[in-house]
This record gives sequence, C-alpha cells and structure tokens, in this order.
Amino acid sequence: MEIKKGIAVSPGIAIAKSLVIDSEDYRIPRRSILPSAKVAEVKRVRDAFKNAIAELEDIHSEKDFEGERIKDIFAVHLRFLKDKNLRKKITDLVYNDLLTAEYAISTTLREVANHFASVQDKYISERAADIYDIEKRLLRQMLGEKRHDIASITDEVVIVAHELSPTQTAGFDKKYIRGFATDAGGRTSHTAIVARSMGIPAVVGLEDVTSNVAPMATVIIDGNRGVVIIDPDETTLKQYTEFALEFERLERELDTLRDMDAITRDGVTVELYGNIEFPNEAEMVLDKGGHGIGLYRTEFLYLYSEMEPTEDDHYKAYREVLRVTGNLPVIIRTMDLGADKFTQSKRFVRESNPFLGLRSIRFCLQNLVLFKTQLRAILRASVEGNIRIMFPLISSLHELRQAKMILRDVMEDLDEDKIKYNPNVPVGIMIETPSAALTASILANESDFFSIGTNDLIQYTLAVDRGNERVSTLYSGADPAVIKLMRSVMHDANKAKINASICGEMASDPEFIMLLLGLGYRTFSLAPPMIPEIKKLIRSVTIESCNSIARKVLMMNSEREVINYLRSAAMKVLPEVF
Ligand code: PEP
Ligand code: MG
Repeated sequence: MEIKKGIAVSPGIAIAKSLVIDSEDYRIPRRSILPSAKVAEVKRVRDAFKNAIAELEDIHSEKDFEGERIKDIFAVHLRFLKDKNLRKKITDLVYNDLLTAEYAISTTLREVANHFASVQDKYISERAADIYDIEKRLLRQMLGEKRHDIASITDEVVIVAHELSPTQTAGFDKKYIRGFATDAGGRTSHTAIVARSMGIPAVVGLEDVTSNVAPMATVIIDGNRGVVIIDPDETTLKQYTEFALEFERLERELDTLRDMDAITRDGVTVELYGNIEFPNEAEMVLDKGGHGIGLYRTEFLYLYSEMEPTEDDHYKAYREVLRVTGNLPVIIRTMDLGADKFTQSKRFVRESNPFLGLRSIRFCLQNLVLFKTQLRAILRASVEGNIRIMFPLISSLHELRQAKMILRDVMEDLDEDKIKYNPNVPVGIMIETPSAALTASILANESDFFSIGTNDLIQYTLAVDRGNERVSTLYSGADPAVIKLMRSVMHDANKAKINASICGEMASDPEFIMLLLGLGYRTFSLAPPMIPEIKKLIRSVTIESCNSIARKVLMMNSEREVINYLRSAAMKVLPEVF
C-alpha cells in the first residue's frame, strides 16, 4: 500500500482499478515489468517499429506528396526506424533491465535527441526534432489502443495521468470514470473546475503519481482530503468503502435543502448561483437549489468543438440555458480564451508568459470578428431571458470602455438589421487583477455589477501560477493581501451602489464563507455540487458572528494565522463537512 498526498480539487471518494494514461508530450514514467512478461513486451517494441515503418512507407509512397524536401525527411525517419542497433538498444532495456516498452523507447530516443541537440552543427542539431517525431510516432502505436479505451470504456476506472486538459476532462463519462489523479495541476486550474462541476472526485498536483501506479492497480481517490491510496490493504479498503457510503448519505441529506433559502440564523438572505461551462449543466444548478447562473464560462463552447463556433452555435447554446433557467438571471461571461484555455490550438502563437499575455478580454479586443460574433449572439438571446453580460480580466478603465464600445457597435449592427435585443442589458465586469481591485471605485462608475474572480485575483496578487503544483502551497485566498483587496472592492461597490458577487472558487470553499459574509458579500456563484453544502453553512451562522470573524481576520498578519483560524471556525459550525 502506498499513500500519496496531493491537492484535493473535487470532493468525493472513488475506488476502482487504475487506467494510466501516458501523454505523448511528457516523459514516460520509468516502470518495471515482471520477468515473465519480457518476451511479450519485446514483441510490443517490434510491433510498434513494424507498424510505424509501414505507416511511413505508405506516406512516403504517396505520389502527389508535397515537395521533395518532405519526402526526404520521411526517408530519414525511415532510416532511423530501420536501424538495427537502435532497436537492439531498446529491446535490451526491456529484456535485460525489465523496463516497459514505452519507457525503453522514450528514454533511448530522447538520449539520441539530446545528443543531436548538443552538436554545434546546425543541420545535425536540428535532427533532434526528427527524433522526437519518431518517438511520438512509436508511442502513438502503443498508446493508441489505450486512448481508444477511454472512449469505449465499459468498466469503472480511475484515471491516472500526468496532466489532463479541461476539454479531455469534460469528455469523461462519469458513469465509468469514477475519479482521477494527476501529477500536475492546482486547485483552481480549469481541469479541476470542470471535475468539480461534473462531480468527479479528483486529486491533482501529486507530482509523480504516474510513476507509482501500475495499470489495473486498485486505487482510492479521496477528493476531500487530497489523498490517493495505491494498492490499499484490507482494512483501508473497508474503511474507505464506509467513507464513500457516508459521503453519499451526507450528499443526499444536503440535497433536502434544495428548496430552502440560503438565509442566516439572524435573517439575512444570501443569493446562491451556479457556475457552468456547458449549457447542460444549467439543470444541475437548479436541481441543487441555485437561483440562476452567476458565471457561464462560454469559452468552453470554443474549446469543445473541432470547428470555430458560429453566431448560431453561440445563440443556440445560450437559448438552451435560458430554456432551463426561465426568468432567473444568467450571467454570460464573454470568452476567456488564452492562458490554459486554447482554441483550436494552432491558432495560438506560443507565449512565454501566457497568463500575462494575450488572454481573455485582451484576446477578444484583438480578435474583433470572434468577439462581435459572440456579442451578437448574446444580444439576440437577451430578449428571451434575464441575460447579463460580463467581461473577464478587465485591468483598466480603457479596456472596459473599449469592450463597451464594441458592444455598442454590435447593437448598432443589430439595429440596422432590424434584429431585436435588450438595449438595457446589464453589463458588468470581473475583478480579477489587483489593478481592477485597486481602481474599483473608478470602474464602478461604468459597470452595472462586479463579480470577483478570486482564482485569478489570487494568482495575480500573489504572483503564483494557479495551475502549477510546485508553487501550490503559496497559492491561498487567506493571504492578507487578497483579503484586503476584497474588502476594498466591497467598500467601493457599496459606495457606487452596485452589486459585487464572488464567482471564483473561494465561494465554493466552506472555510471562507464566514469571512466573505463578514466582508459584506451577499451573492456567491459556485460549482453546482457545492451549493447545498454552502447553503447549509450559511443557514448555520449569524451575520454578527461573521462580522466579528472578518474583523479579527483583518487584524491578522499572516496567511497561516488566517487559514488556521477560519478552518477551526468553520469546523465548529459544520463538523460533518470536514
Ligand atoms: C476566476 O478567475 O476566479 C474565475 C471565476 O474565472 P476562471 O476560473 O474561469 O478564470
Ligand atoms: Mg478568471
């Protein structure tokens, strides 16, 4: 039995056999095989070479192939693949050192590539890229079967991977994929957010879990405590089976709160909305007792399809949400692309600091056709429900004015085309950067509402990448810098008489709710499965006690002090949740 500690990102307990996915872009973990498997494993190496050669010969023989130069490149690849010494080196690693075929191929070819890369001669050093290509081709031969497995899985499994993209995760069939564990990732990475929305237990940031889990090993994912247990012993397995039942019982009990208000013991009402990535999640928000959609991450429409969405694709998606929500508010956030959410990836130029680069509203303002297409669709849908528009990552008044000017342009276009829309559609912004938080009093003059994106606000305030497991201990909403900014935004919003809500993950975290209420926040938008738990917490506290918590926290000097205090306060109120 082995226990690994990572970052808990999506609650729940999953117990199943592992399906380890190796990614072609990452180093294949060093894994051993049993002596009895070595003959079959050598055959896998030979088969991979045979199939890769056949594949290349096919391409090479195509008559109308573009240009001799490319043909030459494939000829070089073929020569490598047919090199007996290279193949022997790999099969020796499998046969004598008992390593997996994937690892033997990857490590040998990377050694060759590194050797080429270090040579001064430009022609030779550039061959390193060819070797990586050959490595990928061979690994695809072997991992192809496993990829196929994910789509057609009919047994319950937990996925173990180096990293998963938000799009990959969104495609999981929850019935079979019971949970996942990854080497990389942080609590507010978009993969984690998708897992939470889908209710799939997940632990990320485990650093080397892919090296520790053998395929088909029994794995327990404890998404509440951030623990992964590999090959559990009898007692642990029994204990976790009981935990899983207890968790389900608690969830059922919380679901009974569905139709009750989120009202504190001293009578203050709090609005709870849900965050969604896909239209079909709107139903879950209402099922869990949410009063509308506080954040619709529309960029997922972009991420999920092979084709660029048209105006009608946008429009249909928004109408699908409105069909479920009726007259309840739906805050449509304009596309937040870039950073860790890419479009059909080729369209993006690589950036060395993507989170500080052309992302979000900046990307939209430089890609007006795409931006206007979306705004037109939102405006068209605005006559069919209670839609509000929200711009992400606004970092200056100038940017807000530019975005609003584009919106006005689109309104004029619709006027010309005699298409109806709501000219008074409320337009708000996300407060996600320290610059926006510090100039909230200015931005408030031209915004109908604020919503704090704490995921990004924490990242930019503390200069900590939200998705990087290596700095995840530095990433915390309990840092006094973050809390002071949040207090100041609330103060400025109150002064301007506009609503300020929170739609970042802090609002889904029971440890922070009392502080947020104490800072004056009365509207939260959260991952739908978390709504009942947060509602229960709100129903168990008084605003008076929350105010006193906030006062104490604002006097504290360190993150440690704040988080320990908030944790023990929340545990006292709702011990069963912890
Ligand atoms: C945030 O940054 O807190 C937020 C809600 O937006 P996203 O997580 O999509 O970046
Ligand atoms: Mg954000």
